[in-house]
Amino acid sequence: MYPSRFRYEAPRSLAEAIGLLHEGDGEAKVLAGGQSLVPLMKLRFATPELLVDINNIPGLSYQTQDADGTLRIGALCRHADLEHSDLLPGKQPTMAAAAPLIADPIVRNRGTLVGSLCHADPQGDWASVMVALGGSVVAQGPGGRRSIPMADFVTGPFENVLAPDEIAIEAVVPPHRGTPAGGYLKLERRVGDFATVGVAVAVETTDGIVTRAGIALTGVGGATIACTEAAQSLTGQALTAQAIEQAADLAAGVSRPRTDHRGSAEYKRHMVRTFVVRILSRTGPAAGEQAGTGEAEPGPATEKAA
Ligand SMILES: Cc1cc2nc3c(=O)[nH]c(=O)nc-3n(C[C@H](O)[C@H](O)[C@H](O)COP(=O)(O)OP(=O)(O)OC[C@H]3O[C@@H](n4cnc5c(N)ncnc54)[C@H](O)[C@@H]3O)c2cc1C
Repeated sequence: MYPSRFRYEAPRSLAEAIGLLHEGDGEAKVLAGGQSLVPLMKLRFATPELLVDINNIPGLSYQTQDADGTLRIGALCRHADLEHSDLLPGKQPTMAAAAPLIADPIVRNRGTLVGSLCHADPQGDWASVMVALGGSVVAQGPGGRRSIPMADFVTGPFENVLAPDEIAIEAVVPPHRGTPAGGYLKLERRVGDFATVGVAVAVETTDGIVTRAGIALTGVGGATIACTEAAQSLTGQALTAQAIEQAADLAAGVSRPRTDHRGSAEYKRHMVRTFVVRILSRTGPAAGEQAGTGEAEPGPATEKAA
């Protein structure tokens, strides 16, 4: 199907883009990578009167680290830029693990992390990663800039808190205070699919003790699920097999999977538990206790953890 008729503008500055969105009075949409918006327009699930293409605005493709370790991902930083990033490996294992698991190479070449957060698909992988990392989104509108914690950014499936004339200009990940570890594991029917089950884990340790933990789930509820209790159970503990099992049980307990053609609810809950154990078992003393070497069994899932 063809999209319904729309006006197209490709401004060259943020101020111009915000002005156009303001003029659009709720009937305008930002176009970033177009990998979610264009399919929706072709299906006529989205029928914006005005498309504001931000791809000609210079200076939004960055991935940078501030002196204090804060990571900033610009609105035009593509999934592929993060997949091939020099910045993430070693420093940000959860993001480094997730980047190659988003869709397929064609989608990764155009789609953006910030666009994925704005799209707020309950099956979007980046939202779980950012929730686990305690990230935030910086938005700019006619009234200036504001920072929105990721936990407050998504208000429902395909809904976010942005005003119609605001643009998300970057995603921000706070600096870690200890040694970062974690990963992202995704069960998918075929490579490139959306997650049947996705688990993001981010931990920071100092002298073997967890100083901060975040766990979030993709695809096993109507929205990204933050496993707050599971994360809290790890904080202040060494990553022993017992602590890991407890966190995995708590994470599986808050998942709300549904039985469908991709598997039973029970199977999906089991996979949440398995993935939490698998990622955490590669960190800390439990690495030696689990599966001998700490390496996970190859399973049906796509594996990436550090
Ligand atoms: C075949 C296929 C497979 C996919 N598989 C996966 C997958 O496995 N995992 C996954 O997470 N995603 C998947 N996706 C989605 C993909 O990651 C998209 O790139 C992403 O969801 C949206 O990013 P985008 O830059 O393409 O945004 P767009 O499509 O341009 O925009 C999406 C929405 O966000 C809004 N938006 C975008 N950027 C901004 C901004 N800066 N400020 C304000 N609003 C903005 C747009 O107005 C629109 O409403 C898949 C897509 C396809 C086509």
